[in-house]
Amino acid sequence: MSVSKPTHLAIRRAAAALLHDRLVAFPTETVYGLGARARSSRAVLRLYAAKGRPRFNPLIAHVADLAHARRLVRFDERAERLAHRFWPGPLTLVLPRLAGAAVSRLAGAGLSTLGVRIPDHPVALALLRRIGEPVVAPSANPSGRLSPTRAGDVARTLGGRVAWILDGGACRVGLESTIVDLSGPRARLLRPGGIAREAIEALIGPLAGAGNEIRAPGMLESHYAPRARLRLDAASAAAGEAYLGYGPLPALPDDVPALTLSAARDPQEAARNLFAFLQTLDRPHIRTIAVAPVPPDGIGLAIRDRLARAAAPR
Ligand code: AMP
Ligand code: MG
Repeated sequence: MSVSKPTHLAIRRAAAALLHDRLVAFPTETVYGLGARARSSRAVLRLYAAKGRPRFNPLIAHVADLAHARRLVRFDERAERLAHRFWPGPLTLVLPRLAGAAVSRLAGAGLSTLGVRIPDHPVALALLRRIGEPVVAPSANPSGRLSPTRAGDVARTLGGRVAWILDGGACRVGLESTIVDLSGPRARLLRPGGIAREAIEALIGPLAGAGNEIRAPGMLESHYAPRARLRLDAASAAAGEAYLGYGPLPALPDDVPALTLSAARDPQEAARNLFAFLQTLDRPHIRTIAVAPVPPDGIGLAIRDRLARAAAPR
């Protein structure tokens, strides 16, 4: 494994590794992705094995531009609107898969649909352009654990299993993409994420289902979990706990480690800090991380979704 700055040379080498069915971790605006050549069943199987990800949990195909996306899935009017407005960006569209799509059937968990997105990150785009075919790229963490927003998170948890890690610094959004299912007549929100639900509804009308009501394949209850337990909507913390605040921190016992997601209650800043701060507070002697309430507006809905899954029984 080598961790490198995303120079032209490093991107070329990482692209070559992908084309040889090896795994490459790279930065996107959401979280670090663990990339595999989508059309290669061998690469896709390696990816599932490296993450310990259940095979019924389908992967998202990442492409560099709309022309490539059109070769994978069938667009309709709603998809056109959303793609023009939000791509490149943290929005995944689930659409009917085209017969000739260059994506292994294993990556789609046998479904007739496929999730597609164009990431908004110069390194991800350079890599995708270089290889010129789709790359499946779930978050670069062992399945069920915290998503990585820094190259060091990937090196620590998956280092031995990847050929390259491109270090593009901290991720700008910090949470995964919003997933909208457009394969049926009613658009459905499968996962809240980097693009606010309200912004999508402004373009295509009301979305059915919020994150937790809909059970997409692989939308497992327990996910994004640190080792410590989580206690949600907590106003304070006791000895033996850590505290993750939103807004100014309350007065806390001396031995309670504490961080605030955003002193100014800025939901974007909170999203950017969420996974990294959970990593930091997840220390061996901490039994529970108590987390302040986060309002469900804009990207706050996605923050609440991740926290609820992190707190779910395992
Ligand atoms: P990750 O790549 O770890 O962010 O997870 C991708 C998420 O996208 C999973 O929760 C999948 O359930 C969801 N997903 C991917 N493809 C599809 C699809 N064709 N239909 C429904 N959900 C999908
Ligand atoms: Mg993930």
